[in-house]
Amino acid sequence: MKRFWESKAFIVVITAPSGTGKTSVIHQLLERDRSLRYSISATTRPGRPAEVEGRDYFFLSEAEFDAGLGEKKFAEWATVHGYRYGTLKSQIESTLEQGHHVLMDVDVQGAYHLRKLYPDGVFIALMPPSMAELRKRLSGRGTEDTDSLAQRLKDAENEIEALLFFDYLVVNDRLEETCEEISAIIRAEELRVKRISGPDSLIGKYLDKP
Ligand code: ADP
Ligand code: 5GP
Repeated sequence: MKRFWESKAFIVVITAPSGTGKTSVIHQLLERDRSLRYSISATTRPGRPAEVEGRDYFFLSEAEFDAGLGEKKFAEWATVHGYRYGTLKSQIESTLEQGHHVLMDVDVQGAYHLRKLYPDGVFIALMPPSMAELRKRLSGRGTEDTDSLAQRLKDAENEIEALLFFDYLVVNDRLEETCEEISAIIRAEELRVKRISGPDSLIGKYLDKP
């Protein structure tokens, strides 16, 4: 049924151990759901061959990242797997103002910070079917050297321990099903009464009051 009221846009935070498939899931969600916009983070990590500046990340030098911190451009930032990553305030605020939900890919520390700033956000933990499958996906992607692979698998243990902080748990077994589950979460969240903008005028419509 078509809704005749407006609901407020919100942030959707997806956190997952590296190699779970977060990037693949996010790409598909953005293709199938026009109400979503991706928040492009800044990072000091070098770009991977398939990554594009300004689409996947804003790739910054250490000095540029420091300048961004000095200018208070970040809503949150963290050191993850040895590099710095940060969410730009401008990416979140402009999207919410346009009435689109903000899809975000951050680590556990980022999720903690964002929950404080946006308590009405939706926090989803994406998990691999097993640690063996995680190792297979991460090494199969072919982007990490031996040290980076070991660090990411070690960090995965801490990330899995933080699972209970999140609102939803989705296991990325089959990509298609994963995206359907996340879309269902977003649809349900849109229908929450607390997200109705102008609730009084909606009640007025039913009761035929101005
Ligand atoms: P992340 O962003 O979480 O680090 P990626 O999206 O880069 O993970 O995925 C890691 C690897 O796993 C990639 O090679 C990707 O093609 C593969 N992958 C992603 N989702 C699935 C899935 N549901 N089943 C099997 N392989 C997957
Ligand atoms: P990757 O190097 O694989 O792209 O990302 C490594 C980790 O950094 C992932 O856990 C990802 O969620 C996290 N990350 C990406 N962008 C941000 C960000 O803006 N803030 C924080 N806190 N983490 C981020």
